[in-house]
Amino acid sequence: MKRFTDASAPSTVPADRLPPPYATGPLARRLAARTDGGAILFSDVDNTLVCRDDPSSQADLERLRRALDAHQYVLAFVTGNDLPTLARRPELPPPDLVLAAVGTEIWVRQNGAYLLDEAYQVLLASHWDRTAVVAALQRAVATARGLLEFQPRDRPDRPRPDQPPQPFKVSLWVYTEDPVVLQAVEEQLRAALPPCALVFSYDTNDPGRYCLDVLPEATVSGDGGTYRGSGKALAVRYVLSRLRPGQAFVAGDSGNDLGMLLDGACPAILVGNATPEARRAVEGLRPERRVGPVLFLPGGHRLYVAPPTERAARAVLAALASPVFNPAEAAGFRAFLP
Ligand SMILES: [Mg+2]
Repeated sequence: MKRFTDASAPSTVPADRLPPPYATGPLARRLAARTDGGAILFSDVDNTLVCRDDPSSQADLERLRRALDAHQYVLAFVTGNDLPTLARRPELPPPDLVLAAVGTEIWVRQNGAYLLDEAYQVLLASHWDRTAVVAALQRAVATARGLLEFQPRDRPDRPRPDQPPQPFKVSLWVYTEDPVVLQAVEEQLRAALPPCALVFSYDTNDPGRYCLDVLPEATVSGDGGTYRGSGKALAVRYVLSRLRPGQAFVAGDSGNDLGMLLDGACPAILVGNATPEARRAVEGLRPERRVGPVLFLPGGHRLYVAPPTERAARAVLAALASPVFNPAEAAGFRAFLP
């Protein structure tokens, strides 16, 4: 588990609280509307805000959206999707921030459009050699006898003009459900690749294979020290270090959410329809105490583990309405429960 440490790396965070592109637009107005410096909900999208197999989740999402608006929360999507894909989904409320492509791109809403945080791209670029990563992965795919395959947008032999590769993410499929095989694949890749992060996640909607995202690992400095990590967790830490809100929560359902749910950056919500691998990871934790669905983990980290009846946005709203999980504002959120 990665944590803030007291390492004395130089800060990459400018002293001004809201550097461009965060300084104007709806995000800045929401942060300024609160006396505590602002509040942010960082949430995964698929199966955390909306369930693909459950049309009723839309009404829960609408209730959550109204509750967040009433409390002037900034809504940040933290997702494996890219921005064009999300923009084609009218069922989603427009987020103030999108931490896209597994946290390798940060987009900020401005006048109805989204601006890329280029400073974050520069940070990732200093820790990443995409050409070397792809070359090593090509060798691994060639020797893995059908176990590994590039996902369509990252196939080096068949580029897709409609879906260009993302600069700081290379994604593959791993065709196994066997944890022993998965472990062996991970060890071989770690030995073959330049320094980078390997993030595996299993999708129950698409069984028989794991998604593997190969991502840069980078360092973010904030008030609490220095954090080294990757993917969604790194992007959340980066945004927290830039905006320093008074309140922040993070929500997710699957393997690529575990980093940001468990690293202790802010109180975390695991929805009731979480994947088996996410459930297993949480069952392996050693909480100091437990009050209903809320686990108190070492370091004061709170984790709301929703019961199976609380799916997606319903779980997020129930957590924010829990006086144990969100003592400061539970009463206000409770008014939006069904
Ligand atoms: Mg998800």
